[in-house]
Amino acid sequence: MAARTLRIGLIAGDGIGKEVIPAGRRILEALPASLGLKFEFIDLKAGWETFQQTGTALPDETVSILKSDCDGALFGAVSSPTTAVKGYSSPIVALRKKLDLYANVRPVKTVVSAPRPIDMVIVRENTEDLYVKEERTVDTPEGKVAEAVKRISQRASSRIAAMAGEIALRRQKIRAAGAPSIHRGPLVTITHKSNVLSQTDGLFRATAREALAGPRFRDAVAVEEQIVDSMVYKLFRQPEAYDVIVAPNLYGDILSDGAAALVGSLGLVPSANVGEGFAIGEPCHGSAPDIQGQGIANPIATLRSAALMLEFLNEEAAAAKIYAAVDANLEEGKLLSPDLGGKAKTEEVVQDILRRL
Ligand code: ATP
Ligand code: MG
Repeated sequence: MAARTLRIGLIAGDGIGKEVIPAGRRILEALPASLGLKFEFIDLKAGWETFQQTGTALPDETVSILKSDCDGALFGAVSSPTTAVKGYSSPIVALRKKLDLYANVRPVKTVVSAPRPIDMVIVRENTEDLYVKEERTVDTPEGKVAEAVKRISQRASSRIAAMAGEIALRRQKIRAAGAPSIHRGPLVTITHKSNVLSQTDGLFRATAREALAGPRFRDAVAVEEQIVDSMVYKLFRQPEAYDVIVAPNLYGDILSDGAAALVGSLGLVPSANVGEGFAIGEPCHGSAPDIQGQGIANPIATLRSAALMLEFLNEEAAAAKIYAAVDANLEEGKLLSPDLGGKAKTEEVVQDILRRL
């Protein structure tokens, strides 16, 4: 079998991004040759340090190389100034726009043997809803009134629901290949507030239902829906009930941070920004200036983000290997970083996981 070569952009960014992204590179390089995968890595600049050096947080070169030369990328973290600085804006937000990465995918998972095992993924629409940022403030005789547009389109709702369906099918495939699981079959939960917002959330709900009722999913994926407030309640009371959650931008944003709180450390939670044929893996945590330079950052969020990126590049078998090696490290619990109550350095955690590959 001819090896497939994947070209991966590495954007370490700032703070602990520089400590965890090299770990992501190493785990990809350590994948067994039998998978038939080769990697080429391209280091790319973005972030606060880049802004201070060059006057832009996201150099054009970074974008053009990602667009023309890369199959996927890993993004570490970027610091941002505490007060607004002229000309500085978040590079990852800009990248999502420029590369049309319309989905933000966030798996939240404990090990299977946890007292309260969780294994869900939140699929958040990432281009519209209230985040179109069309706001205005009007002066009225009673004082100021501010308002914002909440835009929901059939196109965006349909493609995000279809992506949730695909993710549900793929998770089932990975489980069928022997990964231990707490779920019996693929389930997508559609989140909305259409009892109040009958047109916007109503459109999201109806469109998502329709997309998931198509021939590809109809008989393979169970679909349920839930109003977002009751969803928050159940997410905390009974998180094991969820498999794949699909949500418009704002609810997805809130649910995914809330869900991340269920697993103990930000250092465990990966994400991916996904578009047509391109994915950027990104740990959920930030640049963690409080621990940078100490060599104690938990690399697991980044390792899982690398695996998640591979899933979207159709390399499920490779992704499954990384997930299994990470889970084995966590199950054994001997080499854990300080955020998980252990004493291990980043390097020791990485070594342990590489050994298990
Ligand atoms: P930023 O502004 O870049 O988001 P922050 O100060 O908000 O930085 P976060 O990175 O969001 O910091 O982290 C919040 C807390 O979680 C910090 O105390 C940080 O040390 C901890 N933390 C985040 N990521 C990790 C990690 N990978 N390993 C260990 N601890 C982490
Ligand atoms: Mg932060």
